[in-house]
Order: sequence, then C-alpha cells, then structure tokens
Amino acid sequence: MVVGAGLAGVRSVEALRARGFAGTITLMGEEAHRPYDRPPLSKSVLLGETDSTVVDSDLDALEVDFRAGVAAKGLRPGVVETTEGEVAYDGLVIATGARPIRLRGDGEQHVLRTIDDALELRARLVAGRSVAVIGAGWIGAEVATAARRAGCEVTVVEAADLPLSAALGPVGAHTARWYGQAGVDLRLGTSVASVDHDGLTLADGSRVEADVVVTGVGVRPAVEWLAGSGVELDNGVVTDEHLRTALPGVVAAGDCAAWWSRRYGRRLRVEHWDTALGAPEVAAATLLGGDAVYDPVPYFWSEQFGHMVQYAGHHDGERLVLRGDPATDVKWGACWVADDGRLAAVLAVNRPRDLLQGRRLIEGGQRLDVGRLADPAVALRDC
Ligand code: FAD
Repeated sequence: MVVGAGLAGVRSVEALRARGFAGTITLMGEEAHRPYDRPPLSKSVLLGETDSTVVDSDLDALEVDFRAGVAAKGLRPGVVETTEGEVAYDGLVIATGARPIRLRGDGEQHVLRTIDDALELRARLVAGRSVAVIGAGWIGAEVATAARRAGCEVTVVEAADLPLSAALGPVGAHTARWYGQAGVDLRLGTSVASVDHDGLTLADGSRVEADVVVTGVGVRPAVEWLAGSGVELDNGVVTDEHLRTALPGVVAAGDCAAWWSRRYGRRLRVEHWDTALGAPEVAAATLLGGDAVYDPVPYFWSEQFGHMVQYAGHHDGERLVLRGDPATDVKWGACWVADDGRLAAVLAVNRPRDLLQGRRLIEGGQRLDVGRLADPAVALRDC
C-alpha cells in the first residue's frame, strides 16, 4: 500500500511493478486529483501556460487501486486507518509529502502547494493588483516572478537580511538585485506579525497594503497521522539508509522522509523533486527484501526572474569560491570546497554545464584545484 499520491507515491507504485511485484497495490491520496508534478505550479501554471501537470504514468496499466480523496488518519501494524475505513497492508510506503506553513491573522492568505492553490492564485494575479509575498525563498521568488509578469505591483517581505538565506547562505544576497530589476519591492529584515484584511501588519506595527497575500515561508512534513503509530518522527519520518522506518514492513520516501545519508554522515530531509523521483526506487527495493541504499547528491532547481538557478550537493561551513561576478555576469556560480579540496556543493546560475559537471565531481569525490575553480572560463571538469 502507498499513502500519498504525489510524485513519490506514484513512483513507488511504478518501482514496485518494475521489480516484479504482482500483488495488490493501493495508492491513496487525500487530493481529488491524479498524481501531478508540483514544480510547474509556480512556473508554467502561474504564468498561464498550462492548466495540468498530471504525471505521465498509466495507472490502469500499473493495475493500481487508486483512491483519490481518501486521507490516512492513523497507522497501527498491518492497518492504515483512513477517512473511508481501515485498509490492511503487508508492506507500506509513506509518501505524504509536506504542507505549507501559514501565518497568524484573519486575512485571506494564499499558499502554493496544490494545483487547486495554483489555479486559485493565478485567477487573483490580475494586472494592477497589489500582491504581498511573504518570504524570499524559492516559492516566494517564483510567485513574485509570475505576479510581475501578470502586471501586478509586487512587494516581497523577508525576515532574513538576504533572499534564499536558508539554502544558500551569503550567496543568496547576489539574487537580491533581480527583484529590483524586475520591479519588485524587496523588503529584507522585515518580519510579519499577522496577515490581516487588505494586507500585512509588520512586527514594527507598520502596514503593507495588498489585494492579494501569498505566504511562502516553508513547509512541514505531513506526518501528523503517524503520531503514536510506532513510526519514529523527528522532522519527518525517520528512516535508515534503506528508507526503512522503525515499523517492520514500512518505508518512507519524498518530502516526508528524513533518511540517514551515508555520504554526509547525518540525517537529511530534502524537499525537492529529484528526491521524490529517485527515493522510491530504493523504498520499493527495501520493501521487497533488497538492501539498496539511498545516498544521492541532492539536487534542485528554480526558475526566477528569468534566471535558471540550480544547486547540487550539501554545504555546511565549507570554503566558498565564486565563479564569475554576480554583480555583472548573467552567468555565474558558486562552489563550496572542503579542506581536502573536494567539492561539497555547486550553485549554477544560467550555467547548466557547471551543474552537470559539478554534480559528477561531487559524486566522484575528486580533489580540485581551487585556483582554477575561481575562473569561470575553465570548465569545472578541468579544475
Ligand atoms: P507531495 O508532492 O507533497 O505529495 C504528497 C501527497 O500526499 C499530496 O498529494 C498530499 O495531499 C498527500 N497526503 C498528505 N497527507 C496525506 C494523508 N494523511 N493521507 C493521504 N494523502 C496524504 N522542487 C525542485 O527540485 N525544483 C522546483 O523548481 C520545485 N518547485 C516547486 C514548486 C512548488 C509550487 C512546490 C509546491 C514544490 C516545488 N518543488 C520543487 C518541490 C517538489 O515539488 C517536491 O519536493 C515534491 O512534490 C515532493 O513530492 P512528494 O511526493 O514527496 O510529496
């Protein structure tokens, strides 16, 4: 049985069948939709280029018992309690993803997680309207991009002193000028006290008037239904490197899973598409008795203000080396290099080749010449 019919859920079904599992598979999801991709929601859907992002997966051919609009409410060994009664299982994949955080206040507050959220928000992005976006993270930047393209007046309010601080640290500061160039009013170091009617009240008591408020301040793993089940929870579902949970016959994958990474020697929970795509392969193998290990170099991308931003790896205090000058170059990047000369992480802005080559270097663990790394004219694979 697979609970959660997002990308990780449907990929789990595919992986189980690809590995020859011929038994019954139930795929249960609380949304009323077939599994769909979320990255386009804040890009092509908000921009009005498409209305559907349904995953290209033939549920009939997979012979899956797909139950849309059914939520899991609880779990005990061998049984999932759902809004439509109990369902027994022999093996279970937990793939319930994450839910957006909402802020205090009585005002209307849009979030962006589902196709319904995206279509509703798109309808509100009308030329001339004022839009306040809370959070200059990945979602906030992409929403601001779409809102400007729709002709809205956009203010982005960010509590930190720079955009993307959680993911990129000081490098995020180099994306701040994109906001101004796009005509977005970016207010850094500004905390929101509450979302009220007609806008925001800030922590200092001042107001940001807005017709539309979008909150993009992060997500929390959707694991409340697992409380008391015996599955260990700590910032998501705790798993080992095989994606096995504390409960026999139960694995987890995607945004909800905090897995043990051999590569980084710590637990990781990565809220990105590539993880939902790749982890189910290992989750399915584990469920069927294999001993595959999930140990990727994490990867994600974002499209904001006309820039393709890609990141691979994981950094935590390594030496930062810029490739190019973010103040003048359209194409630039950053590398985080460990003391022993190995690449820990790479950021590529409009430099897709850096991303590909950097990801391979991280996987291969080669030592690099840091002097050459700083020269954007030198290909990463030649450093
Ligand atoms: P989800 O996609 O969240 O799917 C989980 C499903 O489980 C949901 O349908 C949920 O309703 C359902 N569910 C939850 N609780 C229950 C329950 N109790 N019972 C039954 N069903 C339940 N990543 C990138 O790398 N690059 C991007 O550019 C990018 N852009 C994004 C843009 C947006 C707007 C969003 C929202 C995400 C974006 N991501 C991006 C992240 C990426 O989409 C996620 O990492 C990915 O969707 C995670 O897949 P998942 O299957 O683990 O979880």
